[in-house]
Amino acid sequence: MFKKNKIKTIDKPVEQCAVFGVTCDDIGYSVSKLLYDGLIALQHRGQESTGVSLYHTGGNGIFTYKKKGLVSKVLNKKKLSQLWGNVGIGHNRYATTGSTEFSSHHYIQPFHFKNNDMEFSFAFNGTIPVYDNIKQKMDDMGRIFITNTDTEVMAQLIASIAQGTEDWVEVLKVASHFLEGSYSLILLTNEGDIYAMRDPLGFKPLCIGELKTEKRNLYFIASESCAMDAVGGTLIRDVKPGEIVHLSHQKDIHTEMIIKSKTTARCQFEYVYFARPDSIIDGISVANARLNMGIHLARNDPLLKDPEFKKNAIVVPVPDSGRSASVGYAKESGLPYVEGLMKNRYVWRTFIMPGQLKRDAAVKEKLNPIRSVIEGRDVVLIDDSIVRGTTTRQIISLIRAVGAKSVNVRISCPPVLSACYMGIDFPTSDELIAGKSIRLFGENYVEEIRKQIGADSLLYQRLEDLLSSIGMTENQLCLACLTGRYPLERIQHLADSENAIKMNR
Ligand code: SF4
Repeated sequence: MFKKNKIKTIDKPVEQCAVFGVTCDDIGYSVSKLLYDGLIALQHRGQESTGVSLYHTGGNGIFTYKKKGLVSKVLNKKKLSQLWGNVGIGHNRYATTGSTEFSSHHYIQPFHFKNNDMEFSFAFNGTIPVYDNIKQKMDDMGRIFITNTDTEVMAQLIASIAQGTEDWVEVLKVASHFLEGSYSLILLTNEGDIYAMRDPLGFKPLCIGELKTEKRNLYFIASESCAMDAVGGTLIRDVKPGEIVHLSHQKDIHTEMIIKSKTTARCQFEYVYFARPDSIIDGISVANARLNMGIHLARNDPLLKDPEFKKNAIVVPVPDSGRSASVGYAKESGLPYVEGLMKNRYVWRTFIMPGQLKRDAAVKEKLNPIRSVIEGRDVVLIDDSIVRGTTTRQIISLIRAVGAKSVNVRISCPPVLSACYMGIDFPTSDELIAGKSIRLFGENYVEEIRKQIGADSLLYQRLEDLLSSIGMTENQLCLACLTGRYPLERIQHLADSENAIKMNR
């Protein structure tokens, strides 16, 4: 059975976690401030809770501190001054507002495992959608679970494999055979070593960095390379799909490929929306990929063939998600790029709110159209995706209210048709405006979406142009939410059976 550990309440797909780790060969140096800096840079991947585990060479094992709240709140100056260790890992977690069970302290990562035989701390980004069978086996072995999460199942699995061995690479290698899903994980041992592993299809990003000074050598592991910049480090490279990395404060980096797949399934949404534009993922600049998406949209836009339209049109991004693509569109089309929507940056988490009325109010609170630049103009409004369509409809009506001549929506990703089972908080296909419309209206579904959101015209990115913008092939990316074809067989069965149930309703 698929464990839904979220309440689906959003109008944007939401990444659920970030991981960050650091080792330092200078045992007189504490890495707690670096953990803070790295986690702050990764705050966009999870805002519900923050946690860190630290190890001090020569000390008494691992110390873990975790709490609900943003990094700046949980790891305040006073707390940071109390956290000491030359090795550490950290985690940011996203959980949907309203889900009390899954917001409890037990669900916050890192997950600190300790019994008479062993101790380690563990955190991951991703999801193991079907883990009942592994949990059942662990139950049969007498393991006691305190949560109902894939995180604890993974930790218990690792602990049971690690019984009687200190070869952590072998432990993770064996664990990977049981884990079907998406995971970029980091593990801190009670010898002060960090191990990291990326799943064989590479759904979630993970990279390694370093900082070498006269006094000390530091190695980092992070969900995104922007965290390396934040700590003054240099990106070495991405962890390859199916690779285990060992970072030691005493030695160096050791890596081992455990499974080399012919195909990979890196989440396309990292490039479209989740990742920070200043990150480089699997060798590709996220900012460049988004710029290319805007260029492709402009090349395919039939409205740009009309000289009268071009004379009066402006390109307006939905802040911040549509910005990079808007720059590309404006560059290719020759139209002026205009910041026509003022964003109130003090309103937090606009799109992650329960209930439609609250979301509508939040959009108004967060975005205000600028009449002086919009009135009388043909607006080309650019965003990364349309999920439920409610936020897009609201933004369009705000723009119309200040006198736009027309509002033409351009979306840098193809229509989102299917749910994600790989660790992204996503509405079900029934709630996705494109998923619902394609079932009801067949091939005319884009026109139906246009009517529902109230746009004068609507253009989505073509799949082949998305691939070309990112610079990867269908065999390298997960495109399941766009195509309904899931890269894991078990997930495909799950999606097919859920769809069959819906069709029979
Ligand atoms: S289904 Fe979509 S959001 Fe989920 S991992 Fe695949 S590409 Fe990413």
